[in-house]
Amino acid sequence: MLAVKTQELIEKKAVDTVNPLVAYKQVSKSFGDIKVIRELDFIVSPGEKVAIIGPSGSGKTTLIRLLMTLEEPTSGVIEINGEPLWHKEVKGKLVKADEKHLHKMRGQIGMVFQQFNLFPHMTVLRNCTEAPVNVLGMSRKEAEERAKAMLTKVGLGNKLDNYPAQLSGGQQQRVAIARALVMRPKVMLFDEPTSALDPELVGEVLDVIREIAEEGDMAMILVTHEMEFAKDVADRIVFTDGGKIVEQGPPTEIFEKPKSDRLQSFLKRMK
Ligand code: ADP
Repeated sequence: MLAVKTQELIEKKAVDTVNPLVAYKQVSKSFGDIKVIRELDFIVSPGEKVAIIGPSGSGKTTLIRLLMTLEEPTSGVIEINGEPLWHKEVKGKLVKADEKHLHKMRGQIGMVFQQFNLFPHMTVLRNCTEAPVNVLGMSRKEAEERAKAMLTKVGLGNKLDNYPAQLSGGQQQRVAIARALVMRPKVMLFDEPTSALDPELVGEVLDVIREIAEEGDMAMILVTHEMEFAKDVADRIVFTDGGKIVEQGPPTEIFEKPKSDRLQSFLKRMK
């Protein structure tokens, strides 16, 4: 049974906006006694690029893992296109969704992790075709065509038959990006995609993400420590601290006119 508060949210529309792609409504997440996300309201519009910045431990990763269905909210509702992600409406009541519903909803989301999470025993091409064939039911021929196109887009059209261990970290991360793109997600989540890379390999991965962002139609939520990159790519910067959004706005406002003390001191530390 869900908390009454959660039940009310669906009618009350805690977040007042027109057709958001993603909406977190009063979402909280605890691990044991530690509350990591606190009554969070957060929306993303279709095609919008949002960068999440904030101190280590402020809940950034948990925030996007909740959307990827890797963590379950303790309370609150997350919606994609108005449809609850973790819940299902049955006879006007919200009940916990089954795996089938989660699976369907997950199909709209792509994620790129810090660690590239490629299958080591599969070629680059095969890494990119497994999910579309097995999850979306795409024919192998169509999946291969699409995977080749995405791998070419990330500059790896000549590495189709290589294995992950034969690639640099930057190349492996670009495969992971192509693999997510093959699924045609409505929103792509990036969790510090360059933090596991040697410094000289960071640029090539950021360039690929920038290029995808410029294409426009897919929404992105990006957790990053790369402030210059966030400034370039994002339509909106969200600063989190203590499991809450402390301040958000266009990059120029956030970086040039930070209002809160917490954001000001965070930005100073990042310099
Ligand atoms: P950030 O991405 O901003 O560094 P995280 O979302 O990774 O923050 O973590 C926020 C807090 O939640 C940290 O204190 C972390 O130790 C804790 N945490 C994250 N995942 C778990 C987990 N699975 N079990 C227990 N604590 C966790």
